[in-house]
Amino acid sequence: MAAQLLQGQPVADQIRAELAQELARFKQAYGVTPRIAIVQVGDDPAATAYVKRIGKAFATAEMVSSLHQLPADIPEADFKAAIAGLNEDSGVHGVIVQMPLPAHLNQDMVTSILSPAKDVDGIHPYNAGMLALGRPTFIPATPLGGMEILKRSGFELKGKEAVIIGRSNIVGKPMFFLLLQEHATVTVCHSRTRNLPDVARRADILVAAIGKPKMITADFVKPGAVVVDFGINVVDGKVVGDVDFEAVKEIAGAITPVPGGTGPTTNAMLLRNTFEAAKRQVAKP
Ligand code: NAP
Repeated sequence: MAAQLLQGQPVADQIRAELAQELARFKQAYGVTPRIAIVQVGDDPAATAYVKRIGKAFATAEMVSSLHQLPADIPEADFKAAIAGLNEDSGVHGVIVQMPLPAHLNQDMVTSILSPAKDVDGIHPYNAGMLALGRPTFIPATPLGGMEILKRSGFELKGKEAVIIGRSNIVGKPMFFLLLQEHATVTVCHSRTRNLPDVARRADILVAAIGKPKMITADFVKPGAVVVDFGINVVDGKVVGDVDFEAVKEIAGAITPVPGGTGPTTNAMLLRNTFEAAKRQVAKP
C-alpha cells in the first residue's frame, strides 16, 4: 500500500493564515511591519534562487525583506561591520546569512556576531544552547517546519523511536532536541554510524538530513514508518530528496515528498520567527 503523502504546502498555508490575523493586529497596534535582512555573500545561483523565494514569501505575507548582497571577496572586517549595522538598525527585526559562505569567512565567527535577538534562523550559540535546554528561543526554520508537518498531521511522537540521519547544526541536531522535547526516543546517525540501515529500520519516525540524493532506500525503512526528508539535491536539473521516494513510499506509512514536503514549511517558519522577533523587539512589556 502506498504511503500517506505529507505535503508541506497545506501546513505552510495554515501557518500563514494564523500569522496574517495576528500580524494585522500587530501592525495596527504598533505601526510596525516585521522586516528581515538577508545577507548574501557572492552570487551562488542556488542561494540566489532561495533568496528570491524568501523575498516573495515575505511580500506575500505583507512583511518586508531586504537583500544585502556583499562581494565574495569582502574582507572579514567589512563583513563584520555590515552585520553590526544590521544588528543596530531598529528597523530590522531579523537577520539571516545565506549559506554557503566563502571559505575566508569562518562559520563560527559568522554565527557568533549575529545579535541573538535577531537570529531568526537560530544559529547563534545562545539560541542553539537555549534549544538544548528546552527553553523558548529561535529555532532553525527547516527542522521547526518538519515538526509542524509531523504535529499537524496528528502523529503521536511520545514514546516513539525516532532516528535522524545527519547531525548538522542547522537541521539534524535541532531536530534531535525538538523530537526529544516531544518525548520521542531519539538516535542521531552520521557518516561514521555503523550498520546504518539496521539502526534506521528501528525508527517509527525516520528523518533524513544528509545531502545525498536518494541515499535512503527501502532497506532503511521499517514498514509503516513516518519518513521526513529534508534533502534538497539537484540531479540532472531535477530536485530530489535524500530518500528514494518511489521505493520508500511503497513501504513507509507516511512520507514527505521532495519537492513539496519540508521545503514550503521552512519559509513559513522563517516568517513566524521574524514576526516573533519583531514582537519581542517592538511589543516589549
Ligand atoms: P550537512 O551540513 O552537509 O550535514 C550532512 C549530515 O549528513 C552530516 O552530519 C553527515 O555526517 C551526514 N552524512 C553524510 N553522508 C552520510 C552517510 N553516507 N551516511 C550517514 N550520514 C551521512 O547538511 P545539512 O545542511 O544538514 O543539509 C542536509 C540536507 O538538507 C541537504 O540536502 C540540504 O540541501 C537540505 N536542507 C534542506 C532545507 C530545507 O529547507 N528543506 C534546509 C537546509 C538544508 P558527518 O557529520 O559525520 O559528516
